[in-house]
Amino acid sequence: MAAPRRRRLRAGAPPPPERLRVAVPSKGRLREPAIALLEDAGLGPETPGDRALAFPCRHAPVEALLVRADDVPEYVQDGVVDCGITGLDLVRERGANVTEVLRLGFGACTLEVAVPVESTLRSAGELRGARVATTFPHLAAALLPAPVELVPVDGSVELAPRLGLADAIVDLVSSGSTLRTNGLRSLGPLLESEAVLIAPLEPSEATLQLASVFRSVVQARSARYLMLNAPEAALAEICALVPGSRAPSILPLAEPGMVAVHSVVPAADVWRLLPALEEAGASSILLVPVERMLG
Ligand code: AMP
Repeated sequence: MAAPRRRRLRAGAPPPPERLRVAVPSKGRLREPAIALLEDAGLGPETPGDRALAFPCRHAPVEALLVRADDVPEYVQDGVVDCGITGLDLVRERGANVTEVLRLGFGACTLEVAVPVESTLRSAGELRGARVATTFPHLAAALLPAPVELVPVDGSVELAPRLGLADAIVDLVSSGSTLRTNGLRSLGPLLESEAVLIAPLEPSEATLQLASVFRSVVQARSARYLMLNAPEAALAEICALVPGSRAPSILPLAEPGMVAVHSVVPAADVWRLLPALEEAGASSILLVPVERMLG
């Protein structure tokens, strides 16, 4: 039988580095984007099997622990892990005593109040005394005008009005198609949610470092690097169109009277920006992804 591993370590060998423990959702819609964030941050997460409970990262002293998204707030609060990724809605529903260190730019949804399309109710303010089904009883109680009768359910919330269990529901909505399919109409949002990195009230230095690497990825994902050529005469108009994070760089080209313009632009503006730039005289327009944005 092989000797226990510890005994085979050379005397005086340095201890293995402390690993930062990060809780990551084990299933559901936040799991894959959370693992993709570790990948894009350059940590080199090992690909976890479907039944894995944890996985290490190859390039950083980080260990990811796979736990249910709704358990992450408590694990972080109790210091079982150093930090965790989960939905802001779950953090608020649990009332966890944690710091919301960074919004991660995925898992966007809103907690909304909805009623059957035929209902006469027009706003959340008219819900006084109504029966409201939800898997978010604490948030619903905190965000709806009192008093409402809460009907806690574990799933299929949209069915509750049709079953006669409730007059309204409070549930997460992203596109709104589930509401429409179930004959429901939104009365408006109660909370805007997305995935967040959370940590104990006093995050460790290593957690803050991880947050700063994540931040550089999150910012980069919403940006594009724009390059174009333009006649000098069109420069003023083009610079006015480009809403760069800083003033654009202007570089002379070999062709007299022509310049290159480089700038970082919001990804969400691109669809509107490109035709306007062409119209203003820009040519050879290139748009490339940004991997990291710092400072
Ligand atoms: P899941 O584990 O798939 O039920 O989702 C867990 C988390 O995903 C929720 O707590 C939200 O933070 C987030 N999420 C994003 N969009 C939606 C949506 N349309 N419905 C439910 N959860 C969503």
